[in-house]
Amino acid sequence: MARVALVTGGTRGIGEAISVALKNAGYTVAANYGGNDEKAREFSERTGIAAYKFDVSDFEAVKEGCARIAAELGPIDVLVNNAGITRDGVIHRMSHQQWKEVIDTNLTSCFNLSRNVIEGMRERGFGRIVNIGSINGQAGQYGQVNYAAAKSGIHGFTKALAQEGAAKGITVNAIAPGYIDTDMVRAVPANVLEKIVARVPVGRLGKAEEIARGVLFLVADDAGFITGATLSINGGQHMY
Ligand code: NDP
Repeated sequence: MARVALVTGGTRGIGEAISVALKNAGYTVAANYGGNDEKAREFSERTGIAAYKFDVSDFEAVKEGCARIAAELGPIDVLVNNAGITRDGVIHRMSHQQWKEVIDTNLTSCFNLSRNVIEGMRERGFGRIVNIGSINGQAGQYGQVNYAAAKSGIHGFTKALAQEGAAKGITVNAIAPGYIDTDMVRAVPANVLEKIVARVPVGRLGKAEEIARGVLFLVADDAGFITGATLSINGGQHMY
């Protein structure tokens, strides 16, 4: 039977490309989203992939969402923690809410999701978790103490959980994308984006499908010896 994969923030941007790539590779995919019903509906109509609305920062909502997916599609063997937001600003102007929203959505979500699927993975002796970090979690970024802290936290979370899951057939890896052409990056002012692209040796923004390529590699059944790793996919912008 096809393995079930849950992709958080799986209806738009990088998550959409991951959901579609997993479906094309034969997985049964559940694409989570947070609030944009219209995009989610369009996505499901276009791809035939079921969309599940719940807030990844809310532990109880995640618990219910994971239970619903398991009941409707089967036990979750593959988890891609992709949902993320930005609330940029320099720290001397950043509100506590901007800090908290980003930490809760980008980092606490990884705990919420992993906690709700890990016991089943341990029982079945198989699991694949991929957490989407960021180049800005590796290198830092002006105006993003909240985002950089959350993404950097993801990289530590990945290594610790990889150690816990190893003996149970569960691998846990991270991908650190560089600048990828999605709504999130389109929100960056054009003059700033131009300067960013000038620093990318490959000379362009990445495509969401190029991140999905890495996810497929890491979640494969025969990728069991790859765990605790961070795969940087950034056009050579930051060589870690
Ligand atoms: P988008 O803004 O294009 O899409 C974000 C997705 O996350 C949407 O599906 C959105 O759902 C979902 N989401 C946001 N908040 C929540 C929530 N509270 N609960 C559930 N779902 C939520 O983002 P990208 O595709 O650009 O980014 C995807 C991931 O990649 C993020 O973690 C981001 O930090 C990371 N990343 C992106 C880079 C880039 O250059 N784009 C670079 C490095 C990392 P909805 O449609 O309902 O809003």
